[in-house]
Amino acid sequence: MIIIENGHWKAKELETEINKYFGCKHSQLVSSGTAALTTVMQALGIGYGDEIICPSFTFVASFEAILSVGAVPVMVDVDDTLTLNLKAVKAAITPKTKCVMPVHMCGSMADMDALQQICKEHNLILLEDACQAIGATYKGKKLGTIGDAGTFSFDYVKTMTCGEGGVVMTNREDIYINSDGFSDHGHDHKGVDRGADLHPFIGYNFRISELHAAVGLAQISRVDEFLATQKKNHAALKNILATVPEISFRRIPDPEGDSCTFLSWFLPTEEITKAVVAELKAQNILAGNFYWYNNNWHYVRKWDHLKTGATLSALSPELKEKVMHHANKDFSVSDAVMSRCISTAISLVWTDEQIKEKGEKIVAAIQKVMTK
Ligand SMILES: *Cc1c(COP(=O)(O)O)cnc(C)c1O
Repeated sequence: MIIIENGHWKAKELETEINKYFGCKHSQLVSSGTAALTTVMQALGIGYGDEIICPSFTFVASFEAILSVGAVPVMVDVDDTLTLNLKAVKAAITPKTKCVMPVHMCGSMADMDALQQICKEHNLILLEDACQAIGATYKGKKLGTIGDAGTFSFDYVKTMTCGEGGVVMTNREDIYINSDGFSDHGHDHKGVDRGADLHPFIGYNFRISELHAAVGLAQISRVDEFLATQKKNHAALKNILATVPEISFRRIPDPEGDSCTFLSWFLPTEEITKAVVAELKAQNILAGNFYWYNNNWHYVRKWDHLKTGATLSALSPELKEKVMHHANKDFSVSDAVMSRCISTAISLVWTDEQIKEKGEKIVAAIQKVMTK
């Protein structure tokens, strides 16, 4: 809930729609997906000394939010689901671990049953970063509503957008009340006006605006339509790429639940993958095909600012040492996956002819590389 004067309640209306559509008890809109992660970490009491296990393949917002609450981002390897590698998660648990944060990258999901089991066994918080998986499901439940809490981003590249915005979703009232207060300067929203509110804890301002919420309201009514188009286009492209024997596809714990924002596929070796990327570039058809391994934003290999602990203001020496330690670990298990992976973004506006042309050009590029 956001308090806006004069009875304007677009944000409240959107929260109600989110609860209904995604199937959670509570949601708290905020100004971005990153703000949603920071807010929910505060709401969960994650802070000084706590370690959060997150994947090596994610968006930089994951570790930004963890650092913003003074906790330690413990990146671990991913597997062929492009999400948390279960063995790596188990191996990373220490007495300081407080939370496991799967990131449902590129529209599809982590193995939620297994992660829930691990969290239950070790008494850990399960926090889903579902920012890239709006509308995706796991065994019938929407991603972001399965763990203790989950987040979406509504920035302009996400499946549903507010222009900018984000949300914390949870079935736990305590997390909701804390998120509601924290994202609005700690106001308890119980006073007759804002000046009369009490402040049980120190907050911050991560409010979404009414204008952004209004855009979100127009978008949420179209999510089903977006998903249906994505699924159709994804299937058509996959059929074409599946004719190449050297291609394998991302493992998806619940294929029916894939939101199909991307088609992620693997080639047999790093060398072949690099050559195919070079060939796509040479033919001017690389746009929309993401080779995350060489990308500065999404994979640990190129996070030099994290590896060197480059912050504008000083971190505590203790935190900085731990941050740098975890960023500079061996990620060869992830490298073996990510160096062979290409993700093709699925467009909502492709025609059948365009999909056929795109698919056939990619297949031709692979064949050219393979016969060299
Ligand atoms: C987009 C994104 C975020 C952050 O969202 P913003 O709204 O851009 O702050 C966080 N996590 C993931 C996985 C994302 O893709």
